[in-house]
Amino acid sequence: MTDSNTQSAPRGDVHRWSRTLIPTTREAPSDAESAGHQLLVRAGYIRRVGAGMYNYLPLAWRVLRKVSQIIREEMNSAGAAEMLMPALEPIELMKQTGRDEAYGDNLFRLTDRHGRTIALAPTHEEIITDMMKGAVSSYKQLPINLYQIQTKFRDEFRPRSALLRGREFIMKDAYSFHTTIEGPGGLNEAYDAMHRAYVNIFTRCGLDFTVVEAESGPIGGSASHEFMVNCESGEDTILRCPQSGYAANVEKCETGERKWSFEGDPTGDLDKVHTPNLPGIEEVGKFMKVKPPNMLKTIVFQTATTPQPSPPGRGQGEGSLISSSSPTSSPSSSPPSSGQGKGSSSTASSPTWILTVVRGDHEVNESKVKDAAGAPVQIADEKQAKQAGFAIGYVSPRAILERTGAILIIDPDAARAIDETKGKPMFWATGADEPDHHVKHFNWRRELGAILDDPSRVKVADIRNAMAGDPSPRAEGATLEAARGIEVGHIFKLGTKYSEAMGFTVLDQSQQRNPVIMGCYGVGVSRTMQACVEMSHDDDGIVWPHAIAPYHVHIIPMKLEPDSEHMRTAEKLAKELSENGLDVLIDDRDERPGVKFKDADLIGCPLRITIGDKALEQGCVEVKKRSEGGKGEMVKVEEAVRVI
Ligand code: ATP
Ligand code: MG
Repeated sequence: MTDSNTQSAPRGDVHRWSRTLIPTTREAPSDAESAGHQLLVRAGYIRRVGAGMYNYLPLAWRVLRKVSQIIREEMNSAGAAEMLMPALEPIELMKQTGRDEAYGDNLFRLTDRHGRTIALAPTHEEIITDMMKGAVSSYKQLPINLYQIQTKFRDEFRPRSALLRGREFIMKDAYSFHTTIEGPGGLNEAYDAMHRAYVNIFTRCGLDFTVVEAESGPIGGSASHEFMVNCESGEDTILRCPQSGYAANVEKCETGERKWSFEGDPTGDLDKVHTPNLPGIEEVGKFMKVKPPNMLKTIVFQTATTPQPSPPGRGQGEGSLISSSSPTSSPSSSPPSSGQGKGSSSTASSPTWILTVVRGDHEVNESKVKDAAGAPVQIADEKQAKQAGFAIGYVSPRAILERTGAILIIDPDAARAIDETKGKPMFWATGADEPDHHVKHFNWRRELGAILDDPSRVKVADIRNAMAGDPSPRAEGATLEAARGIEVGHIFKLGTKYSEAMGFTVLDQSQQRNPVIMGCYGVGVSRTMQACVEMSHDDDGIVWPHAIAPYHVHIIPMKLEPDSEHMRTAEKLAKELSENGLDVLIDDRDERPGVKFKDADLIGCPLRITIGDKALEQGCVEVKKRSEGGKGEMVKVEEAVRVI
């Protein structure tokens, strides 16, 4: 039956259901938060051990190994070398980069018998940088890209949806080391190679995915991409331009030009309203009978005055959007270039205040504020801001007037005096700059006057999270569309964050020591398995893509006696299929056919072969694709392997 080009294919596995463990159940687990979670438990792939901890049963392990194998092949052919680091990590290593603090409660810590604190590694930047530091000293030894497939530990605040957000999970993490960013052997080259490898990995896994621009690292540009499986149950929102193909996560997404103008008549006299004990903008709005799109939200930022712990992610600017600065910010870290108003410099005792204004129904984006301000900024410390006279919670754009050094950055949607949709003056309500009070009929020109024309004090810039319906930044006339996704991979240009913190330098051609430039590249292996199920299932169960299915073919013989024609046919087919590189599961359980068919649909192998009396009488078996409904196809036994 075999032909010449299949003889070399690696042999597939043939397993019997009764000899492995596939505990299918009809009941969905009570804590199931997504279809994938429910199906993986019901189909006997995973079982919960504790919050965010799961057993991978034989079926799951088969899938995970296949996903891992695809990853290995693509990483190896992209020039990366596999290794393995320990999951245990002396806390001192993480202290060197400050990530012990930045990770906060997400970091699992334990104390060994000698009283030493050890972390369970959430990622391995410190361990690998430390190792490289001891092994590499010259530019001649670089570039190098090393990866591992390892268990990671993160004490997630809310583990959810089984493998999508576990506290212990499997990740492929790679780290590349370079002496240059550009050119052959540089970071960009490795990054692009990883980008291509990731596209190959997720394509081969049969996933429907989108590559999105994510928060950039310290190097800027498109220095970070996330790979998102397109799926409505995903927890990440991504925005896409249908015309240009541009896609980005909400935090990163730019918007096309939005019109604005401060010129227009007021809607009435400024009217102060007493609004006591109202916790949020919604409540204030209801009380004043003003909708959030008609309110101006003023959020006070300050230049970073205290060293910030680095954000918990792998690089700078990931997770928290504010980057750190030294206690005495240098002039270069002060907002807009044209100066800082009249004599205000940002020092530890007097930060520069940055007032940001967005519409009441919009979310200010700290990273965009940072870009617009051209400086590291952070949300103002409430106590400090109050001391400086800000009525926090009731601040209005007018607060700029009394503060010479302060800067006002307004989102275009807030910088309006005409309501274009109604062709009328724009009604605005905002804070009254005194506790428990708001004002109605705010008008930009009347309230702020000439300062609006001073570019060193007032700037209009995109500083809010993008939303569906916003103009596309890449195609005129197109609007952004929202979609949900599951982040299965993330590639990141780290720069010298870790090498500098840990003193990893190499000698260059002119015998100068320079910190090594790094990139890191992660795939959530266990999350990828579940993301695939979230994306590919129907009412009856999982529908695996061929490449990562636990078994390719699921054979159901109707009679189980070893000498029955059914069983003999099943074994013969299984042997031949496995010789052709296919993995085969024979359901040899003493169960009713209905139960077996239901279970076959539930576990979701791509092909099912049913061996029953009627078909056998005609020398046939029934072959059915999991992805197609209805009855299967009658295929001659001798033809079956070829057909499959
Ligand atoms: P998230 O934003 O979902 O918390 P992350 O950005 O912190 O993830 P990375 O540090 O980028 O995660 O880790 C690389 C990959 O590891 C992610 O793209 C994701 O696929 C996977 N991953 C991260 N956290 C978890 C988790 N708790 N459970 C399962 N997989 C995870
Ligand atoms: Mg990430």
